[in-house]
Amino acid sequence: MTRSFDYVVIGGGVMGASILYQLANRGAGSALLLEQGTLGFGSTGRSSGVIRMHYSTEVNTRLSWESLDTWRNWSDVIGHGDAGWTLTGFMAFSSPEYRETFESNITMQKSCGVNVSLISRDEALEIAPSFVVGDDETVAYEPESGYGDPSGSAIGWVTAARALGAEAELEKKVTSVNVVNDRVESLVVDGETINCGNVIVATGPWSAKFMTEHGIDLPLRATRHEVFLLKRNLETIPFHPGGADMANLTYFRPEAADLTLVGNGNVVHDADPDDYRSGASMDYLSDVWSRLAARIPAIEDAEYTHGYAGLYTETPDSHPIIDAVDGIQGMYICTGFSGHGYKLSPAVGTVMAELMLEGAATSIDITSLRMNRFTDNDLNTPQTTFRVMV
Ligand SMILES: Cc1cc2nc3c(=O)[nH]c(=O)nc-3n(C[C@H](O)[C@H](O)[C@H](O)COP(=O)(O)OP(=O)(O)OC[C@H]3O[C@@H](n4cnc5c(N)ncnc54)[C@H](O)[C@@H]3O)c2cc1C
Repeated sequence: MTRSFDYVVIGGGVMGASILYQLANRGAGSALLLEQGTLGFGSTGRSSGVIRMHYSTEVNTRLSWESLDTWRNWSDVIGHGDAGWTLTGFMAFSSPEYRETFESNITMQKSCGVNVSLISRDEALEIAPSFVVGDDETVAYEPESGYGDPSGSAIGWVTAARALGAEAELEKKVTSVNVVNDRVESLVVDGETINCGNVIVATGPWSAKFMTEHGIDLPLRATRHEVFLLKRNLETIPFHPGGADMANLTYFRPEAADLTLVGNGNVVHDADPDDYRSGASMDYLSDVWSRLAARIPAIEDAEYTHGYAGLYTETPDSHPIIDAVDGIQGMYICTGFSGHGYKLSPAVGTVMAELMLEGAATSIDITSLRMNRFTDNDLNTPQTTFRVMV
């Protein structure tokens, strides 16, 4: 017998998992998630998990700020699994030539309700004695930010959704979505046809190929980015907050008891999601490590433990696409989160559910994330020199 679902989510990263949970939690009807690998198989499983509010556009700031409550109160809000929330505080550094824009971004963040303030050099050094801060630099501090466990979050959402009656199947690759008279009718997975009223494409770096195969060309790129873990000497650097260093182009955070995770995110190489080099390169390690040491000199004596690469899904304005697909009723798309989607995923699940069930997102205005902005030449204009902080 042909199975039927009201909603089928394609992709078991944080976005698909969060959307599945929101549909199930609203009693939206029967819902199924299909994932070609395991939960967290794509970008999610390689994510650095940084949770901060520093953005230069209102839509990203609001998505991030709205999400924080879920991260901090996961067991009360979601009730299953563990998103690994860890409070570290977060500092953003700006060099002098960028001060004015940086300060206006902070004003915008405050207007969205974010707990952030500009702090003096002395205050920064009190919070983070191992840092070097120049007299002419501007520093913003978010005391409520931290990091989480991206794969753990996806697993938690799917577990919670299953407890509410939704289904999720792993190692199931969707090969096609059948559209009849401009409306989604069914999809094919492992040779099985499943009838479905609505399909949500949350396929991360595979999205460009998947959409092209369905006749929709979107300017999406999968790009490769490396992350490294260094073991600190706890006598010289017992702890440091998370940070984004726009002068030296690194982002970093503490990991567990004695590790520091560092990435750069600004060097972009296109990659094939089915065939890319997932290991780290030593030349790049040396470049990023020395940039980090410009902010935290004692990190020079750290020990390299490991590194790896993962994929961002990029759009020309580094903002995601969250929308109903033009011309195909019942098809929705949620992709293009570049290097900063994890922290937004609780609110993204909410706005996607609102979009599908109420016809429009009501909690946050996501008009600027619509898919036709590229053809309309109406892109977002991030005010930052550091691509991962859009
Ligand atoms: C190195 C790195 C560091 C990052 N650091 C941060 C950070 O510190 N903070 C932050 O907020 N964000 C960060 N990000 C970004 C964040 O991880 C991503 O934006 C987020 O994980 C995207 O989630 P997703 O669900 O859209 O995509 P994915 O996690 O890629 O999930 C898509 C899923 O779809 C599945 N899929 C694809 N095609 C099919 C198909 N045909 N059938 C079935 N399943 C399919 C894939 O297997 C995959 O599991 C980082 C990303 C990387 C790579």
